[in-house]
Amino acid sequence: MQVVRTVTQWRSIRRSLSSQTQRIGLVPTMGFLHDGHLSLIRIARQHCDIIVVTCFVNPTQFVPGEDFERYPRDENRDLALLKQEGVDYVLLPGGDDIYPEGFSTSIQPPASSQGWCGQSRPGHFQGVCTIVSILFNLVQPHFAFFGRKDAQQCAVIQAMTRDLNFPIEIVLCPIVRESDGLAMSSRNVYLSDEERRRALVLSKTLRLGLTLFQQGVVDSQAVLDEGKKQIQTMEGVRLDYLGVVNQNTFKSVSIIQPGNYYIGAMYVGTTRLIDNMVFGLGEAPCSE
Ligand code: AMP
Repeated sequence: MQVVRTVTQWRSIRRSLSSQTQRIGLVPTMGFLHDGHLSLIRIARQHCDIIVVTCFVNPTQFVPGEDFERYPRDENRDLALLKQEGVDYVLLPGGDDIYPEGFSTSIQPPASSQGWCGQSRPGHFQGVCTIVSILFNLVQPHFAFFGRKDAQQCAVIQAMTRDLNFPIEIVLCPIVRESDGLAMSSRNVYLSDEERRRALVLSKTLRLGLTLFQQGVVDSQAVLDEGKKQIQTMEGVRLDYLGVVNQNTFKSVSIIQPGNYYIGAMYVGTTRLIDNMVFGLGEAPCSE
């Protein structure tokens, strides 16, 4: 496994790789890896000869006042895990290397970025689209792998890839959960034991919505009302949003159809958590 710390070094490596004979896969992350990240790498291995993982805590996708400075980082642990997974290249660029002085370009995100996380975190998806475009151009992969935990991000990246004609196949990978249902996230490390227990209300609420749908409830408002009640009665938790949306546009739907997403975000103390499930399916499978 080769650890690459500068754009210049990576460019010369990339020139030596053949796009004709080798399938290159990109797994972008912000580091502090967990089994959710590792599952993306394992899926990438099924498609690709060369796997490139990036670990970069991207400042432009954090909104002022968010946790950019204190976002968890553990480079040595990440490198050990990536080595175990048989990753070929790890890119650990510095902030100034990606955004050198004078950098002022950004990508205007597609319509699916509006609302939900796009509304709670203004500018977030612009930062995501910008860094992902930079990484696409640097790595020039055949495939790129994203986790469905960030469902709106998946829709945004798919639309951006299509609209800008990046010659890259986007593979969406299933959510990896703890045994009690909590979606894995680097931010879970912020939670105290009590908060960790309270955090479960999000996945339980989504699961309950899916059960209601199975029992014949198709009115999204009825599902949302029940969901909001669940979350609002949990102490120490503040709802950010709950929504029932079309899986591609991320627009609200009033009558639930199989395949629509039940999405939610909430704060447990100061930690913001997101999750989603798919009506009629539970967890969405790998998108290949
Ligand atoms: P992050 O480091 O949080 O920016 O995540 C990097 C990639 O891993 C993104 O594509 C995420 O959607 C994905 N990811 C994070 N958590 C999970 C999870 N629990 N299950 C599946 N994918 C995940």
